[in-house]
Amino acid sequence: MLIPLLLALQLRAATTAGALTVRTASASQQIPLVGDTAGPMLRPQMLAPLLPVTVVAESPGHYRVELAGVRFGLEIGVASTTVGGQVRPLASAPTLRDQQLLIPLQLVSEVLPSFAPNLRWDAATRQLFVSPRAAPVNAAHASTSKTKPRLVVVDAGHGGPDNGMTGPIGAPISIYEKDVTLAVAKRLGAELRARGLRVLFTRTTDTLIALSDRGRIANQAGGDLFISVHVNAANLGWKEPAAARGFETYFLAEAKTEDARRVEEMENESVRFETDTKVSKDDALSYILSDMKQNEHLRESSELAELVEEHLATIHPGPERGVKQAGFRVLVTAFMPAVLVEIGFGTNAAEARYLTDGRHQAEIASAVADAAAEYLRRYERRVNGGSGGVRDER
Ligand SMILES: [Zn+2]
Repeated sequence: MLIPLLLALQLRAATTAGALTVRTASASQQIPLVGDTAGPMLRPQMLAPLLPVTVVAESPGHYRVELAGVRFGLEIGVASTTVGGQVRPLASAPTLRDQQLLIPLQLVSEVLPSFAPNLRWDAATRQLFVSPRAAPVNAAHASTSKTKPRLVVVDAGHGGPDNGMTGPIGAPISIYEKDVTLAVAKRLGAELRARGLRVLFTRTTDTLIALSDRGRIANQAGGDLFISVHVNAANLGWKEPAAARGFETYFLAEAKTEDARRVEEMENESVRFETDTKVSKDDALSYILSDMKQNEHLRESSELAELVEEHLATIHPGPERGVKQAGFRVLVTAFMPAVLVEIGFGTNAAEARYLTDGRHQAEIASAVADAAAEYLRRYERRVNGGSGGVRDER
């Protein structure tokens, strides 16, 4: 799968440098990229007006470029930039073409978003999302985000031709993952609304939504949290697969264990059903993961995941399998604290009964809603309370 994909990407890079799109809540703009042996480049001025841009030639070969309030020191022929008191490597050196400064795309897609928290890059579609609201951790802008209740995006895993897992092992099929995730997601949405939060569902019917679109839906709506609901399946290679049970919560990062990789592969399988998917998904994953490492959402997501596990432990027969990390495609494109909850094993006969029981689905939904509400309360306190910790780069 990966090798033809890489070839296709190389081929595309050689023939055309393409374009990037800057997207705000109400407008979008295409910016042409210029091909260069070292990779795609662009004229920074083209990012205006959706992004504030200033370009100043300070001395021959030396430029000061301000993008979205972030100041970059650049030198022609030098593949690094000074920004925020640090020196950051660039994919290629800035150049002059027809007296015009060209900067590498990577400065805009990778370096800039790590200093401007209201910007998010989606590598799969080459889009730079400009968020209208301030960065979640940015105390200076807390007052603007307080006016509206927080928006939680609830994602029911799978759907349509993608059944997800079926179970239990050794018995006629009595559980389809896509049905359980939809039922629990709907209850979760109702529980969140009852707690004064706003809710957006990625799906409310038995339909297939591409994994990459689920995150995009969340971004475009300006979601504050993303919760994806799933049902686990034991690996048939395990010693007693039918006996495995319990709940676990994932946040996005590279898979750490063999078991996390199993769940990652299983959940990412859904792309198989997507007929109209764009290429470079694998590319998008590694790209954004590298960016995510410096991202505050990782910490926030892991805290949310902890809370989900804690609250589920109060009602779920268990066992509690804990917080784990893996590279889920559905989480890759959600630029907000995001978790994926495996609410139990449908491969286990007793747990399949538990998960298909409406009363227990309601308990699960309520526990996850409590976790989300508690996370947001803590988060509001952090934002409104201590203004110390985070420095406003702008
Ligand atoms: Zn699933």
